[in-house]
Amino acid sequence: TPLSHIRNFSIVAHIDHGKSTLADRLIQSTHTVADRDMKEQMLDAMDIERERGITIKANTVRIDYVADNGEAYVLNLIDTPGHVDFAYEVSRSMRAVEGSLLVVDSTQGVEAQTLANVYQAIDADHEIVPILNKIDLPAADCDRVAEQIEDVIGIDASGAIRVSAKTGVGIKETLEAIVHRLPAPKGEEDADLKAMLVDSWYDSYLGVIVLVRIIDGRLKKGERIRFVSNGTIHHVDRIGVFRPQMQVVDSLGPGEIGFLTASIKQVRDTRVGDTVTHEKKIVKPLPGFKPSQPVVFCGLFPVDSSQFEDLRDAIDKLALNDASFSFEMETSAALGFGFRCGFLGLLHLEVIRDRIEREYDIDLITTAPSVVYRIFMRDGAMQELHNPADMPDLSVVDHLEEPRIKATILVPDEYLGDVLKLCQDRRGVQQDLTYAGSRAMVVYDLPLNEVVFDFYDRLKSVTKGYASFDYQMTGYQTDNLVKMSVLVNDEPVDALSMMVHRDRAEMRGRAMVEKLKDLIPRHMFKIPIQAAIGGKVIARETLSAMRKDVTAKCYGGDATRKRKLLDKQKAGKKKMRQFGKVEIPQEAFISALKMD
Ligand code: GDP
Ligand code: MG
Repeated sequence: TPLSHIRNFSIVAHIDHGKSTLADRLIQSTHTVADRDMKEQMLDAMDIERERGITIKANTVRIDYVADNGEAYVLNLIDTPGHVDFAYEVSRSMRAVEGSLLVVDSTQGVEAQTLANVYQAIDADHEIVPILNKIDLPAADCDRVAEQIEDVIGIDASGAIRVSAKTGVGIKETLEAIVHRLPAPKGEEDADLKAMLVDSWYDSYLGVIVLVRIIDGRLKKGERIRFVSNGTIHHVDRIGVFRPQMQVVDSLGPGEIGFLTASIKQVRDTRVGDTVTHEKKIVKPLPGFKPSQPVVFCGLFPVDSSQFEDLRDAIDKLALNDASFSFEMETSAALGFGFRCGFLGLLHLEVIRDRIEREYDIDLITTAPSVVYRIFMRDGAMQELHNPADMPDLSVVDHLEEPRIKATILVPDEYLGDVLKLCQDRRGVQQDLTYAGSRAMVVYDLPLNEVVFDFYDRLKSVTKGYASFDYQMTGYQTDNLVKMSVLVNDEPVDALSMMVHRDRAEMRGRAMVEKLKDLIPRHMFKIPIQAAIGGKVIARETLSAMRKDVTAKCYGGDATRKRKLLDKQKAGKKKMRQFGKVEIPQEAFISALKMD
């Protein structure tokens, strides 16, 4: 296909605004997939993605379209991940295409992820076609939403297309707009091969599949290629395109998007954003390449310690397909053997944890998520802290730095006060506050550590679900941070230790011990529960001793009731861990760390 007849684009949207449904309609109306093979959410492959309605890995499809002018075009759609945790992958896949469809739900309007994603598209110099979706719904208000797109995002929305991805209205206009309003790619057929590695994933039959966008030159089957970042050389054994199933082709030329396989064993051996060329060629690498870094760490431990090997196996398998997930073995005095794992964000953490529990059937204890702190030692050295349990003695530490984020929140007016209070409570510094219609957009500078645990849940609850939220990392800043330890029956429970701001330590310590007092069942003896910084106790509660056997109150009369009670205790026991002489239920680890 000549460059003039190729269009490469992505779809950007806030979650649930209809990105996947629109992709389905584009695929279906062009007969890319036969009607009998059509199923909903064609591009969302993993079950968990479907359930949560999010696309995690970028997916791609090549669509043949004969336009109203009678000419045949090739349209390549790259479906980008819609969540903030995967912002880096979004930015890479954006650079592989020239235009975007900006989908906004015409009953809702612009939301935080609409903004975050469209700014990525603007950064990548995209031509942008606004789409007002869901016009079949009575609550659709296209004029208001078009105005909002102009006011809040600052792009021309006069040519916005009114679409119902559900009924198919406006799909034809959308296809024509892709052909006539988005630019054709540029590239040189005769130049040395230069391709961008857009994405990669593991397939159990073919090994690692690498998605590439050819910038210049031509890639053929059987050739030897080199990844510029690490100099590794591979023999290409297969080239193809997605329709959306794989279809083998002989070669890929400038402007085209497709895949290659080259007997690569691990996703780790490929890097998103890398430049691919022929073995002996020297090309200038594509700008802006940086490997993605985990920002949130937590410990994963099997509830049943005999499942440790199963957990190792599950983590190994998941890591094969996810280069941004890191792990190393961890031993905890309290929890035994497990893994310290690093994630791109909280959603990423949740997805991996859910998959281990569901696909591998392992009950997990998850310790408090922690961000990566930088410890500056007295001797001038710097080290990263991934686990509060590893915090060195304060006598060798000069100061600590913590990561900060820029958070953007869109919220209806009536909840603004609660949102400001929440951000303020989390050590936020307000940077901006603007209005668009009856919605406020506030921008806060916040410590990531105050956001990782339950900020999003709190935000949802104080705004009854009407707020949308997005963030990006901005950098590190010094603050007065200390490690708080928790002692149960005078034994430190390492899995509950956490980094806190000094000014908030008493409050957090108090809340923690009060919660633990409720969460830990009574034993036959008195149990002191304490929070401490260094050797100094900052909060203390005492759990009084149990007076009688629990079954005593059943009076021995009702045997079934008595048995039920014992069964219930036994089931509860499965999720208990022994700390010295004390048993702590698994849920205590999560609940104790929530702040209200
Ligand atoms: P995504 O999260 O942006 O991929 O959104 P989806 O495509 O999964 O759509 C979210 C929900 O909105 C689904 O329940 C869709 O069926 C529904 N939806 C999408 N487009 C339309 C539309 O044009 N009209 C109506 N009524 N519902 C739609
Ligand atoms: Mg989707």
